[in-house]
Amino acid sequence: MLTRFAPSPTGYLHLGHVVNAIYVWGIARARGGHVLLRIEDHDRLRSRSEYEAAILDDLDWLGFEADAGRHPLLRQSDDGAEYAEALERLRRTHHVYACDCSRKEIGGERYPGTCRNRGLDEREGRGLRVQIDPGVERFADGLLGPQEQNPADEYGDLLIRDRDSHWTYQWSVTVDDLRQGVDAVIRGTDLLSSTGRQIRLARMLGRIDPPVFLHHPLLLKPSGEKLSKSSHDTGVRELRAAGLRPADVIGSAAAAVGLLDVATPIAASDVQNLFD
Ligand SMILES: [Zn+2]
Repeated sequence: MLTRFAPSPTGYLHLGHVVNAIYVWGIARARGGHVLLRIEDHDRLRSRSEYEAAILDDLDWLGFEADAGRHPLLRQSDDGAEYAEALERLRRTHHVYACDCSRKEIGGERYPGTCRNRGLDEREGRGLRVQIDPGVERFADGLLGPQEQNPADEYGDLLIRDRDSHWTYQWSVTVDDLRQGVDAVIRGTDLLSSTGRQIRLARMLGRIDPPVFLHHPLLLKPSGEKLSKSSHDTGVRELRAAGLRPADVIGSAAAAVGLLDVATPIAASDVQNLFD
């Protein structure tokens, strides 16, 4: 089993990331698997190197160690050539086309295929999409059970590269999981709706066995909202500064999502004990 912890350097590490790390390392260690670290900085406008440095420092402090000897850190901004090569492979078997629609023109989540047959030239300022054929993607989520998603119905033709020439999230992670041989993806339920699209893109790139997926509960604010990057009360930096130990932080994150009945300290090296 090869999985990954893949933070975006668009903010500091908070308790929501700690919950994800507990699931990623806990399940991987319980099953004799390995963990890769990937910096998902495909969003060039919001990513900052100081956030990356802080994330790596907080992870070290918490004690979550990637199996870096086997798999060095991958940073999405390091090699755009990989995404471009994958795009060339995709073109051989699928209809890839330029699209000049703005977000506003599209108006919703689903792209209606406006530019599919317009034959626009590919040039700066235009996005690139791939035609998505009808059909359902079924997968068995490790926690949530059988799932069914219909990428064409729900999202239409998928954007591969946006109008600012940035590779999209769906494309970057699909290519990364394929090239790194990631076979298990463990992440929060906020990304559940992306999974059908990522499985479809993986198949379109020739991947016969897409990864298996597990989506775990999110840590929410008492109000029910998702934690944000700016939630200072749950930032790992702030908790460190307040004098908490790594095991306290991990224990309270585990308890907050029901992995422990009460918050008791637990070291990063013991999180596999939370999973049978
Ligand atoms: Zn368009």
